[in-house]
Amino acid sequence: MSQDFLFDLPPRRSDAQVTTGNAALVSIDGGEQSFDYAIPAELEAKVAEGSRVRIPLRDKLTTGTVLEVRPASQAGYKHLRSLHSVISERPTLNAKLLELGRWMADYYCATKDSVMRAMLPVAVRANVNKPKEINFVRLLREPTEEEMAALEKSAKRQHELVLQLQEADVPLPQSELNDSALKALLKKFPETPLLSVETGQVERDPYGEDEFIATTPLPLNEEQEKVMEIVLHAVANPTTTKPILLLGVTGSGKTEVYLQAAQRTLDMGKSVLVLVPEISLTPQTVDRFKSRFSNIQKQVAVLHSGLKEGERFDEWHKIATRQCRIVIGARSAIFAPLEELGLILVDEEHENSYKQDSPPRYQGRDVAVMRAKIEGCPIVLGSATPSLESFHNTQRGKYQLVEMKQRADNCTLPLVRVIDMKLEGGKGKHQGPSIISERLRMAIDQRLQKSQQVILFLNRRGYAKSVTCQSCAHVVMCEHCSTALRLHRDEKVLICHICGFRKKSPRKCPACGDPTIFYAGFGTQRVEETLLKIFPKVRMARVDADSMGPSNKLRDTLNAFKANKLDLLIGTQMIAKGLHFPNVTLVGILNADLALHIPDFRAGERTFQLLTQVAGRAGRGEMAGEVIIQTFTPQSPSVQFARHHDFDGFASQELTMRRDCGHPPYSHAVLLSVRSENQEMAKFVIESLAETLSTKLPEGVMMGDPNPSPLERTHNQWRFQLLFRARTVKEITSYLRPILAKERPKNEVILTLDVDPVNFM
Ligand code: ADP
Ligand code: ZN
Repeated sequence: MSQDFLFDLPPRRSDAQVTTGNAALVSIDGGEQSFDYAIPAELEAKVAEGSRVRIPLRDKLTTGTVLEVRPASQAGYKHLRSLHSVISERPTLNAKLLELGRWMADYYCATKDSVMRAMLPVAVRANVNKPKEINFVRLLREPTEEEMAALEKSAKRQHELVLQLQEADVPLPQSELNDSALKALLKKFPETPLLSVETGQVERDPYGEDEFIATTPLPLNEEQEKVMEIVLHAVANPTTTKPILLLGVTGSGKTEVYLQAAQRTLDMGKSVLVLVPEISLTPQTVDRFKSRFSNIQKQVAVLHSGLKEGERFDEWHKIATRQCRIVIGARSAIFAPLEELGLILVDEEHENSYKQDSPPRYQGRDVAVMRAKIEGCPIVLGSATPSLESFHNTQRGKYQLVEMKQRADNCTLPLVRVIDMKLEGGKGKHQGPSIISERLRMAIDQRLQKSQQVILFLNRRGYAKSVTCQSCAHVVMCEHCSTALRLHRDEKVLICHICGFRKKSPRKCPACGDPTIFYAGFGTQRVEETLLKIFPKVRMARVDADSMGPSNKLRDTLNAFKANKLDLLIGTQMIAKGLHFPNVTLVGILNADLALHIPDFRAGERTFQLLTQVAGRAGRGEMAGEVIIQTFTPQSPSVQFARHHDFDGFASQELTMRRDCGHPPYSHAVLLSVRSENQEMAKFVIESLAETLSTKLPEGVMMGDPNPSPLERTHNQWRFQLLFRARTVKEITSYLRPILAKERPKNEVILTLDVDPVNFM
């Protein structure tokens, strides 16, 4: 049985000695393990927590990071091998980050190694990427007029090269210059050389080619002013403040407040850390930071998963060497090695993407709160639809609540209409589902005629939900997962949205041979097809994972839309967040129920958040906006509260329900999962674990029944789960840890532990 949490095994070794003095606990690069090594006297002064070291492992030398320096007597073994050498003396992680790491390992029941891997980018850990160096050509002095005239007459290319350098006014890469002309020029003036070639570092700036137009701070409105005052007071008095939850409706000017608060913090000589849910999905927020601080553009570091290792290495080092004082990034940016942190901002704090799905399975927002505490700096969590966890924390006095209820640019919140799709006709046998209601069709038509823009939202990519037989109701399933294959018309294949398995679409039912196969439900591709039938002339782009790919296409498409080169966007959650288009006056939500029927106690919360966020994309300019929500459950609280932009109403109803059921935030959950290709084995393990655990269940901890996961099988693996709840995480983990550590390994079974899980599938 493999576990990706809990404990590490010590190594076997032959050259070990009984050790006195200090030992270093070293996390080995690229592995799950950490071991103690004796620190030789001559290295004693150089080794500290966070140092990068070379160490012997079995019969080889390898590299690692020092987690802890402690008396050798406290090491697990009497006989320790010695550190070989120190790679970098400057600790890669400062003491505060190491403290944060220890907290994470403990709270999330993660190995120190997995925490270390999360905290340090591969490139930094492995120390393989060096800053990129190239040759530059520098003009050493201004040529005289005679020299230039002579060159122009006899050596055109050399003349040109000098002009090039004069014009650029900075050294130019040698590769951009004419080689033979350069060589000749270098020899030409032996007494007073004109040029020199120097080696220099270039930064791989992922935004190097973009231009950012400087923006100036807007005069704040009254609500913003009040929030600023509170935030700045916190920045000036960091030790006395609680985390601040900024509940501001979409378009209330939260980002403007972040920008100005960041500026003021920088002015005080401190650094700023900004977390956004996913950089690729929030390009506008990053651009706004880059623009506002474009006078000091190099001071803004951007960290996200789309960076190449070299780029990440450069950004990380710019931060560590204090060239960057402001960092904006997705989840893992919370580990940016900024010193003297003055303010942490977490935008869209309710977003699920702050939770990491693989070890150490941390919740970035909560880690941010902990980092703020360790750093002694204030933190602002902002959202139009805060998580109920954070909101509840304001109710019990752990966080401070500040609100902004008006839209900043004097716009009103959009009018929201709810369309009951049960009443929409057209669901005949071969007509397929009704995708666009009559009301929505008319509304789109009107906007297009007025040259206004439309966003349609549907959180399902592909063409159809499933391929189903009309006669025997057989659904074509993935061969590796317990889920229906989705039809993708573009590529004419069926694709599994979990494991990516592909298969040709059958012409007749694979079960009964009947040819009346039909495509149930709809995804973005089908919507696109339908719209083109209704509005043949519409300039439209589809924005989803299939159409956008990994490149800059999303940015380009959003820019084209902003520049009014497109009339309509149809997209998935890629267009749900943080986007601001003043000319969008209509937003249509095609199927509000998609997120509602997921077996998860947060389904209602997610739906409310999504509807409110998507609706917030409408009417962000001079013109009033309208939102049309299509749903089969018009009376559900999520739809109704979103319709009235009523977060308080939603929160109070939902929290009552959570309290009655003992769900978070009234408890903490820990999910123990078992998976294996061998179904019987997985089932056996979860059931015997449940039995063992139930006999030692402490008071205050509730254990559910062992059950198959809602997605019973993925990637060929059968999955089972066991849920624990208690008032605190500690009550659960301190009880589980020792018992699970004693579990005998069984082949083919993987155990995972997820603290504060957000995904129960
Ligand atoms: P949020 O982040 O809350 O969604 P934004 O910061 O994006 O809100 O603001 C919404 C719009 O209002 C933006 O176009 C922004 O430039 C504008 N805005 C923000 N603050 C002000 C202000 N004080 N005066 C005028 N316009 C503002
Ligand atoms: Zn699959």
